Amino acid sequence: MSVEFDRKIHNTLADANLQLAIYTATGRLKDKRIETVAPDALPDYQELRTQANAVKKHTIENLDYYLEEFQRSLEAHGGKVVYAKDGTEVADFVLALAKDRGARLIVKSKSMTTEEVDLNERLEDQGLEAVETDLGEFIVQLARERPYHIVAPALHLTRYDVADLFTKRLNLPRETVIEKQTAIARSVLRQKFLAADIGISGANFLVAGSGAVVLVENEGNIRLTTSAPKIHIAIAGIEKMIPRAQDLAVFLKLLGRSGTGQLLTVYTSFLSGPRRSGETDGPDEFYVVLLDNGRTRLLPDRGKRQSLYCIRCGACLNACPVYRKIGGHSFPWVYSGPIGAIITPQFMGVSHEPGLPFASSLCGACSEVCPVKIDIPKVLLELRSDVTKAEARDQRNRLERLAFRAFAWLMTHPRLYEMAGRMAASVAPPDGSGWIRGVPAPMNIGPLRAWLSQRDLPPAPARSFREMWRRR
Ligand code: SF4
Repeated sequence: MSVEFDRKIHNTLADANLQLAIYTATGRLKDKRIETVAPDALPDYQELRTQANAVKKHTIENLDYYLEEFQRSLEAHGGKVVYAKDGTEVADFVLALAKDRGARLIVKSKSMTTEEVDLNERLEDQGLEAVETDLGEFIVQLARERPYHIVAPALHLTRYDVADLFTKRLNLPRETVIEKQTAIARSVLRQKFLAADIGISGANFLVAGSGAVVLVENEGNIRLTTSAPKIHIAIAGIEKMIPRAQDLAVFLKLLGRSGTGQLLTVYTSFLSGPRRSGETDGPDEFYVVLLDNGRTRLLPDRGKRQSLYCIRCGACLNACPVYRKIGGHSFPWVYSGPIGAIITPQFMGVSHEPGLPFASSLCGACSEVCPVKIDIPKVLLELRSDVTKAEARDQRNRLERLAFRAFAWLMTHPRLYEMAGRMAASVAPPDGSGWIRGVPAPMNIGPLRAWLSQRDLPPAPARSFREMWRRR
């Protein structure tokens, strides 16, 4: 575990107010979920989970086919698909488009995918203004922090913290009443919507058959983001694909209930291209950026690729005893909780934070609540094994480097080298067999065993080269 990870965990554990905030908010979401998926509320809940898992499994195993189908369907409606390998390619595309259209102001709806590639920072570095319009995201953007939770980004802040932020960043009198704080945010954001040149959203689902981007929300800000500006860009991970609109009957029932304990979120938008003739609103240009950023690396791995089934509902965070103690900002990347513990090492590499797969009690609460039945503990165990193997490799490399440094030193000290040679010859096996394989058992252990299994030296000669040279 890195010093930084350890420090953040200890700081969170020592903050009693933060502990209460995390525990209360996740507890509320957890209880609401339990009510809405109880057998009397949703009798076919387990069948829906099984079906969601089967649809995701099928889609991920045939992802190339569905990506192409999505592109064909969207482009038939006038939209454009852009493939991006990583965050740089996403930012390059948005910056080039903004430059070409003379755009300065971008409004954004909540998107973990754009958080993943630090899009706001990349755009702001080039002089563009990117404004988050989801209330929680707006607050964390003012605080210059990243989201604390996948579906509740400002979960860790109290209304008093928000009052301080609004005063400091918006130069407004201190206001602690939540309804009034919401009204302040709304009036600030309304002006931004009216002036924005580009709207950027994420995507909850991409429907291959119809080329639709499906977005769910409660605040109405996504509808404004995607319809008020002249240009709409949806940025989505390639794993957001589902084959047909009918599949949404399964996923929408599960997503609202698992995430916030709602039967359905307040708004569900289906967007499949720019405004058509006769329509009164909608953008003139519509782009979907399909992001890889490490996702295709998971595809060949039968065991771990189930991590790509995730629909980012956040239920595993609320159920996780570790997340509920260490909170979202202790995690080393934008994704926190159990899903963060399995996708961060896979997207970023296990060395990004080797302690992460071990930050779990393996109690299984996460997989019990996961609407797409990802076996998170199993993936964690596989990742632990990857970390252990990588560390063993490192350990061997360290020993090997050390041995070669000692050998190099010896080679530059002729007398000592000669003495060492004589000593080595004196302990060589008397039968003239290979020297190293015959190393006595106490030395042939641990990392040395694997090293010695691949290496040997010829039998020691009766006289060294130096002795023969001198005799001549
Ligand atoms: S892993 Fe499952 S429970 Fe966790 S966010 Fe993803 S879909 Fe939801």
